[in-house]
Amino acid sequence: MNYLGFYKIVSSSLVGIMTYVASLSHPMASVGGPNDPIYKPGMIYAPVLMYHHVAPKTGNSPYYVSPDIFEQQMAWLHDNKYNVISLDKFYNGVYGNELLPERPVVLTFDDGDKDQYVNAVPSMIKYGFTGTFYIITNDVGAGDGFMTWDMLKEMVKDGMDIESHTVHHPSLGSIGEDENRYELSKSKKVLEETLGIRVKHLAYPGGSYSKTTIKVLEELGYQTATTVNHSQYHSPDMSVYKIPRMHIDSDMESFVGFVTGRRKD
Ligand SMILES: [Zn+2]
Repeated sequence: MNYLGFYKIVSSSLVGIMTYVASLSHPMASVGGPNDPIYKPGMIYAPVLMYHHVAPKTGNSPYYVSPDIFEQQMAWLHDNKYNVISLDKFYNGVYGNELLPERPVVLTFDDGDKDQYVNAVPSMIKYGFTGTFYIITNDVGAGDGFMTWDMLKEMVKDGMDIESHTVHHPSLGSIGEDENRYELSKSKKVLEETLGIRVKHLAYPGGSYSKTTIKVLEELGYQTATTVNHSQYHSPDMSVYKIPRMHIDSDMESFVGFVTGRRKD
């Protein structure tokens, strides 16, 4: 073997060892490496998608994804071999030692709208997907637009995660500590007692929170809180209480852009 051949073997095994060591300390499998267009050093690529209504669009509201577009979005995830993972798995992958699968994506739904139960859940079940539904506990069963406790119980059986979106949907960033504590503890307790589950995650209503909110979340044992800030990138150095999400619109082009990382906002 000439000198160059020897050098190549040594240098390639060094790269191999370094990659292996890096993977031990930081188990991220979701991006290929520097040649992958979505690669960012030290960051984990795992889009958390945010939905509101899944129903025919009314006016210009950005908070509606039509049922047929939603079905196309789920079919696209399935056909393109994306792995829909739970928020717990996401948490363990980003902040713990679990290995995330290739092409991970998390589905989240805010506000407990009945149309999510009617139009989103069947499509998800069809493809074997689960998601996180953030519920405003005071609105459960409150009129025709909201899910009932029976619907939520059925969703728990289907493997869906039911988590907190507070009691009354206030701007947590502009209310005091006692009100924060009430909104975060009461909603958790009611969901846990009625559904027989453990509540570990919160979505901030309107994305609003303060240092006080985070202090109370820690106190109550919440594992994560999601915001409305746009990013598909996560890191164990970022706060578990500031997890960004991607707002999803009622069209395929932006959806594919956001999921693949070709589009950032
Ligand atoms: Zn909301």
